[in-house]
Amino acid sequence: MEALATSAQFCIEPQCGACFGLNEHLYSCSHCGGLLDIARTGDPHDNPQNLPAIWEARRTSFEPRDRSGVWRFRELLPFAQDAPIVTLEEGNTPLYEAPRSAGYCGLQALTLKHQGCNPTGSFKDTGMTTAVTQALILGVRTVVCASTGNTAASLAAYAARAGLRCAILIPKGQVSHAKLAQSLDYGARVLEIEGNFDDCMRLVRDLREEESVYLVNSINPYRIEGQKTVAAELMEQLHWRVPDHVVVPGGNLGNSTALGKGFSELLDLGLIERLPRLSVIQAAGAAPFGQIFGNGDLSNLATDPIPNDLLQPLRHPQTLASAIKIGAPVSWKKALRRVVQSGGQVITVSENEIADARAIIGRDGVGCEPASATTVAGIKRLVATGHINSSDRVVAVLTGHVLKDTDYAIKYHSENLFSPNRDSDKTKEERRIKATYGNPPRRVKADRKTILQELGR
Ligand SMILES: [Zn+2]
Repeated sequence: MEALATSAQFCIEPQCGACFGLNEHLYSCSHCGGLLDIARTGDPHDNPQNLPAIWEARRTSFEPRDRSGVWRFRELLPFAQDAPIVTLEEGNTPLYEAPRSAGYCGLQALTLKHQGCNPTGSFKDTGMTTAVTQALILGVRTVVCASTGNTAASLAAYAARAGLRCAILIPKGQVSHAKLAQSLDYGARVLEIEGNFDDCMRLVRDLREEESVYLVNSINPYRIEGQKTVAAELMEQLHWRVPDHVVVPGGNLGNSTALGKGFSELLDLGLIERLPRLSVIQAAGAAPFGQIFGNGDLSNLATDPIPNDLLQPLRHPQTLASAIKIGAPVSWKKALRRVVQSGGQVITVSENEIADARAIIGRDGVGCEPASATTVAGIKRLVATGHINSSDRVVAVLTGHVLKDTDYAIKYHSENLFSPNRDSDKTKEERRIKATYGNPPRRVKADRKTILQELGR
C-alpha cells in the first residue's frame, strides 16, 4: 500500500471526540463546535522503518508528486493514491547554517529552515497544496480565506493551478504590496475589509454554511496535514538526528500545531526517538498565546480539556510583523497541547528585538520577513534565561521571504522605522527603532576617487 485512506477527522475536545469521514465538508465539530484534527486509523505502511528510504529514493524522480516536498511524504497524508494533486513543487526548502545569527544568540551553532523559499515565498504553500487538493475532491467552485498576506498569495496561486475561483479577505491597508501584487496576478478576487485580520477571519467563518465554498484558513485541518510534512523533511535533512529545539514564530498558531503534529507522528512511527522541544515566539504587542505561559503549571493541559477562556483574545494586536499581527489565534488549543507535550516555551519579544534579529539573519546572507525574525530574537532570550544551552542543536523556522516587506528593511537601515503606537504615552521619537545593525545607503559624488574612498572605509 502506498498512500493511505485509513484516516478520519476527529474533534479535539477530549470530552467529545466525535469522528467524521475525511470527505465530510465541515470545519469544526458538528456536535460541540470544537476544532477538527485528522488522525490515522491504520498503519501508513507495512514496515514504517522503510519509509525514509522510500522518501529519499523519490528525490531522483521527475514525477510531479515526487518533486513536491509535501507529496513525497504522501504516506503521512490522508489522501488516496489517485487524488487530483494540485502542486507547485512546494517544500524542499533549504537548511542553512547561520554562524553570525548563532553568535548573536550565544549559541555554538544555529540552523535556519527557510520556508520562505517556497513557490509563493512563504510556508503557507506546504499546507495549501493539500487544502486545495481537498477542495477539488469535495467538488467546490470557490475557495476563500482571510489573510495577513502570505495565505492570500498562496491560496490565489494554488486556486489558479486548480482552476478554482478564489476570494480573499484582507485588512485594508495592512497587507504588503508584494503579497497583494501576487494575489492580483494569480486572479484572486481581493476584498479589502475595513478592520483587522480577526475581523476578516470572523467574516470568513460566517460563510461556512455555503456548500459551493471551501474555507481554507488554518482552522482547515487539511492545511495542517500538508504543513506537518515539514517535520519529516527537516528530519531527513538532519539525517534523522532529532534537534534539541525547534523554534517558530506564533501568529494564528497553525504552523506550530502542524510541526508538533508532524514530529508526534514520526515518533509514533518509530522514525525518531524523542520530540524536539517546540517553542513559539510572539511579538509583544500581539501575544495572547504568550500570556498563557508563565501562569503556573500547564503540564495537565497535554491531555485534559482546555478551558475556552484560558486564552484572552486581544482586540487591537499591534506589531510591524504583519504576518503575526493576530489577536484571536484560531489554532491555539491545538498548538498549546503540542508545545506542552514537547516541553517547549512560549515567549514574547519587542519590536526592536525583532528588527535587529532580522538584520542579523541578513548578515548570514539569508533574508526573511519580520515575523520570521522573532525566532532568532526569541532564541537569544531563551539562551540568556538558560532554557537553551549554548551547545544545544537548535533549528529556527523562517516563514516568509525577505521581499515580502522591503519597506520595513529600508526603513530599518535608514533609522526610520517606528514601533506601532501601542502605548499612547510614548512620543514618536521614543518609538523610533534603534537600528543596531543599520546599513544605510550613502549618496556620493560621481567620481572614481570618492568611490575608492568609500570602499576603503
Ligand atoms: Zn466535538
